[in-house]
Amino acid sequence: MTTILHADMDAFYASVEQRDDPALRGRPVIVGGLGKRGVVCAASYEARRFGVRSALPISQARRLCPKAVFLSPRMSQYARVSAEVREIFYRFTPLVEPLSLDEAYLDCSGSLRLFGSARAIAEAIRAAIRSELSLPVSVGAGSGKLVAKIASARAKPDGLLLIDEHETDAFLRPLPVAEIWGVGPVTERRLHEFGIATIGQLADYDSARLERSLGSWATLLQGLARGEDLRSVEADRGRKSYGEENTFPDDAVDGELIDAMLLAHAETVARRLRHDGRKARTITIKWRTSGSAAQWRLSTRSHTLVDASDDGVVIARVAAQLWRAEPEHPPVRLLGVQVTNLDGDRPVQLGLFRCQEEIRNEALNKALDQIVARFGADAVRRGNTPQG
Ligand SMILES: [Mg+2]
Repeated sequence: MTTILHADMDAFYASVEQRDDPALRGRPVIVGGLGKRGVVCAASYEARRFGVRSALPISQARRLCPKAVFLSPRMSQYARVSAEVREIFYRFTPLVEPLSLDEAYLDCSGSLRLFGSARAIAEAIRAAIRSELSLPVSVGAGSGKLVAKIASARAKPDGLLLIDEHETDAFLRPLPVAEIWGVGPVTERRLHEFGIATIGQLADYDSARLERSLGSWATLLQGLARGEDLRSVEADRGRKSYGEENTFPDDAVDGELIDAMLLAHAETVARRLRHDGRKARTITIKWRTSGSAAQWRLSTRSHTLVDASDDGVVIARVAAQLWRAEPEHPPVRLLGVQVTNLDGDRPVQLGLFRCQEEIRNEALNKALDQIVARFGADAVRRGNTPQG
C-alpha cells in the first residue's frame, strides 16, 4: 500500500520569527512586503484571528490588525531552517519531494515496517521538529498526494490527520471541488454550472458530458475526485541535471516534428525546474542518428545562458537554435533536451516579490503538471493549455 505524508509547517515564516524573538510570542506577527503594494507572505495564528491570511494586500492586513508586528521576510534564515526540517524528513524516508520551503511530500511506503505505521512516522516527525527546532508542523497522511495534502490542511494548526485507504471516499466526497488542485475560480464556476459543488458530485458525474465541456482535463479531475491519484513522490536530493528525451519509432527527419519535440521536452524540463524551485544555465540537446552502425552515435551540443532560466520558451529557443546551427540534419532516432549548471544548492522559490505571482500561477502550473503526468508530454503545448 502506498502511504504518502504531506508535512506543512504552520505559518512558517511567522513561526520562525516568533521562535527567534521571544518578544514576538503570543503576538500577531505578519511577514510580508511592507511597501504600498506588498502582500502578506505569512501570518501567525494570532494574526489570523483578525482575518489576515497569505496573499492579502499588506494595506488590508494593516487595517484588519493594526496592532500586529509587521516584518520583512528573512529568506536566507527561512531557507536555513527549511534545510534543517528536510534533514529530519530524510531520517524517515529518502523519498522527499519539497514543494516549497515549508512543505513536502514524503513517500513512507517503504519505511512502514521499520517504524511501525504511518501514524508512528508522522508523530515522530512532528515530535522531532517540535523538540529540535521548536517549530509547529501539521501532517496529513493518505494513499495519495491529494488526500495527504487536504488532510494536512485539515489538521492545522499543529495537528495530524491520517486517512486510511478505506476512508478516502468518505473523506473526499463532501469536500468542495475547489479543494482539488488546479480547480481555480474559473473551473469551479463551470463545474457549478453542471450542478457540481462537491468532490462526490464530480466523481459521479457523467464522464463523457464532462469531457465535452472541459476537454481531457475532465478525466484527470474526475480521477482525482474518485481518489485515483497515481502521482508518485519525486525525490530530488542531490539532483544535478534535468532531462527529457524520446525515441522515434521511425526516423524523424521532418524539421517541424523535431522542433515540436524539442519544445515539448523543453517544457517538461522547465516544469520540473519550476516544481523544484530551481533554474538552469546550461542547455544541451542530444540526438542519435540512425542508419549503419558507424552512424549510430550520440551527439551533443550545448549553450550556456548568462541568466539561469526555468522558462520552457527560453530553453526551447536555445534548443532549436542549437539544432538549426548544425550543418547537416540526418535522420534522428533519439532526441533529448537536458539542463545542467543549476542555480544554487537550495530552492530559490518564494522570494518575496514572487509571492503573489506564485499563488496566482499555482493552480495552472499544477494542472499542467497533472495532465502531463497523466497523458504524457505531448498533451500540453503552450497556447493550448486547458481552460481554468
Ligand atoms: Mg505552511
